[in-house]
Amino acid sequence: MAYSVQEASERILGAIRALAAEPIPLRDALGRVLAEDVHSPIEHPPWDNSSMDGYAVRADDVRSATAQAPITLRVTDTVRAGQLPSTDVQPGTAVRIMTGAPIPRGADSVVRVEDTDGGERQVEIRDGRDAGRNVRPRGEDLRVGGLAVARGTVLGPAQIGVLASVGCATIQVHRRPRVAVLSSGDELVDVDRFDAVRRGEKIVSSNSYTLVNSVRAAGGEAVDLGTVPDDPAAYTERLAGARGCDLLITSGGVSVGAFDFTKDVLRSLGAELHLWRVAMRPGAPVGFGTLGDLPWLGLPGNPVSALVTFELFARPVIRRQRGETRIFRRTVQVRVRDEVSIQAPLTHFMRAIIEWQRDGAWARLTGPQGSGLLTSMARADALLVVPPDRPTIRAGESARAMLLGDGALSSDMLDV
Ligand code: AMP
Ligand code: MG
Repeated sequence: MAYSVQEASERILGAIRALAAEPIPLRDALGRVLAEDVHSPIEHPPWDNSSMDGYAVRADDVRSATAQAPITLRVTDTVRAGQLPSTDVQPGTAVRIMTGAPIPRGADSVVRVEDTDGGERQVEIRDGRDAGRNVRPRGEDLRVGGLAVARGTVLGPAQIGVLASVGCATIQVHRRPRVAVLSSGDELVDVDRFDAVRRGEKIVSSNSYTLVNSVRAAGGEAVDLGTVPDDPAAYTERLAGARGCDLLITSGGVSVGAFDFTKDVLRSLGAELHLWRVAMRPGAPVGFGTLGDLPWLGLPGNPVSALVTFELFARPVIRRQRGETRIFRRTVQVRVRDEVSIQAPLTHFMRAIIEWQRDGAWARLTGPQGSGLLTSMARADALLVVPPDRPTIRAGESARAMLLGDGALSSDMLDV
């Protein structure tokens, strides 16, 4: 009995935890996941400061100012950002002030320079609209002890900026998983043996490239174990390279062919097999087990099957190990351009291109859907999900599509 996609996902992820924390320099934090709550040790900003270039004044002094009846104040000081004021603001006086500079005592407003004559010894205030405004209070952004960035946050530029503001030169993040990738098949060579491919004897192990790069794109560190022939002894020997890794991904040899012994090799090494076969197309022969502490995902060899099953099962594992909570690809509702039909009662993941139109998102298949046609995957930016109980989706009907990455979320125009 094959597992449904949902059941398989739950079974696999039930065995996966976030990896332990490690300290890293803040400079290297992009894309990592924070493993601790970070609280602010300071008030930020550290002083009441001006949000305008202008004059720090008392609201009562300027409230009634107009162009016809301006008010003149004596200027007693100039403060720049990075300086402390040397005098207080008394009734009838003003301090020239730049954006970010501390507000002098006695002032409760900053009149923008555009509403004045810009004077240096005395200033004419020509509008009272800034009375009581343009002072950014101390601690407005962060209070002492306040949560600056929460554990589990994926660190992008803004979060890294906040961590810098509160003095974190080093932070604790979840360790990145080291993911071993091994492909098997007598027919496989690496690109450096392309002469054998030209002679029609071999094919390039494209899975080695797609899977290693999928691991990297998911935020893992790939350990490329290359390719091995369909030979249990060679396979066992090469698997030693996975020692110390957090996940093992294999491709090929998990089906029912006479030389499909990936499962047997893993079993002979003491692995427990938790799952085999998922009711999906492409990609039915998917295996999952654990070899001691090492989770193993056995993906099928067909290039499209390997990538689709990676997206559905391996990527969420890597993201959970990285400490992320949003581990799945998002699906969106789309309408299909052309009728789509499936033969077998399996969940189908069809290679599609999303067109974002004014009237919503449309999905178009990339062409023939054979599981060996890697170019169909290379052109796709989404997988159209066709459930087993819906053999036909007519043109214009709605379905869900799983977006494969930034491509599907990017636009060729600024649409604000
Ligand atoms: P298997 O899962 O080993 O039965 O392989 C299924 C199909 O995928 C066969 O046509 C293989 O030649 C092909 N295949 C297996 N491994 C790879 C690989 N690493 N790169 C490209 N194609 C592969
Ligand atoms: Mg094979």
